[in-house]
Amino acid sequence: MTEEKHNSVMVVGGGIGGISTAVEIAEMGYEVILVEKAPSLGGRVARLTKYFPKMCPPWCGLEINYRRIKENKKIRVFTLAEVQKISGAPGNLEVQVALKPRYVKPQADRFEKAIEACEVEVSNEFNLGMDKTKAIHYYHDMAYPQFPVVEAKDDPGVKAAIEASGCTAFDLDEEPQDMTFKVGAVVWATGWTPYDVSQVSYLGYQRYQDVIQNVQMERLCSVSGPTEGKLLRPSDGREAKRVAFVQCAGSRDANYLGYCSNVCCSASMKQALYVREKYEDAEAWIFYIDLRSGRYVDFLKKVTDDDKIHLIKGKAGAVAQDPETGDVIVTVEDVTEGVTKKYAFDMVVLASGMVPETAGNPIPAEGIEYDKYGFVTSDPAQTGIFPLGCLRKPSDVSVTVQDATGISIKAIHTILGG
Ligand code: SF4
Repeated sequence: MTEEKHNSVMVVGGGIGGISTAVEIAEMGYEVILVEKAPSLGGRVARLTKYFPKMCPPWCGLEINYRRIKENKKIRVFTLAEVQKISGAPGNLEVQVALKPRYVKPQADRFEKAIEACEVEVSNEFNLGMDKTKAIHYYHDMAYPQFPVVEAKDDPGVKAAIEASGCTAFDLDEEPQDMTFKVGAVVWATGWTPYDVSQVSYLGYQRYQDVIQNVQMERLCSVSGPTEGKLLRPSDGREAKRVAFVQCAGSRDANYLGYCSNVCCSASMKQALYVREKYEDAEAWIFYIDLRSGRYVDFLKKVTDDDKIHLIKGKAGAVAQDPETGDVIVTVEDVTEGVTKKYAFDMVVLASGMVPETAGNPIPAEGIEYDKYGFVTSDPAQTGIFPLGCLRKPSDVSVTVQDATGISIKAIHTILGG
């Protein structure tokens, strides 16, 4: 099926950047096709415990944008949708999109009985594989669209649950579909992925269960996370009351990720406050090379004013778990005192950096250029494809949302032939 609407824009990626762009363009009167490969919009922001720096929950930002999408007929949303190929020139692009089946009829309801009856479990992708979920499930509490998704559809248990529920809202024979759209411009907003810190072998990630990444910490502290917001360490469920944050986990190191991700210092400060909120007697240590809080000076003050958050200028040289006590031992060269020290913790959080999604999944179009890290460098005026936010440089939520406004105007300019 092909649609020809050259005065429309396709936005690829349904995280906060893509959602903001789609809403801005549609509210200026232009048609938008919003494409997301996951079963729901929300992206990485939906997985946060709290937004930085106001420390409000993610639904504050998402709910209002979902409402703006629902109320605006100019936006069409396709989830479980992946762009296969983009061809053409600015103002006249052809985009091929593959749609995966959801196995659920969009206008139907009464799914709950089938969900209740389903005993088959699958890894919970939304919680980064830290727990399991039913094979028939809502992707997350704030899922948009508010329809479940079916995984393991050939499992007899899944079929039995659907049959037992008597619900006719499922279609397990649904086939994948291909669609082609003709649009004037594409905004590529696929976001970022955490740096694979298992590459930095001395940090112990994936060797020790109680050494986790900052993105996992967000799920662990969230009420919709695997522990319902209780800060329990993964190996044995012990309360994590002494938590270390190891900064620049692979970042700013030519052997691993050669740049500063800009956001992981702020993220660790925010997460140190989570630790302090969870237990009155909890303490957090942040081991850093430089603490880069940027413009968030007040936030830094809040952290430094807390005498149970310890900021230590020093690089972590080794992380290992004591098999007898279960403590995670971090060896740090304390730069201020000029000595090497060992500290024992319940859990260690690695501040892993931000890798542009385009490093592993480039834009499927000719003429797109990248730097050695995968950030997009090509000129959108030549391609009609606009990379958003952290596809050009590491960016936090507020910078990404500001970028969405600028990119929206430029995309409209392109479809108007500017
Ligand atoms: Fe390191 Fe902080 Fe830069 Fe992240 S933001 S790479 S932790 S200095």
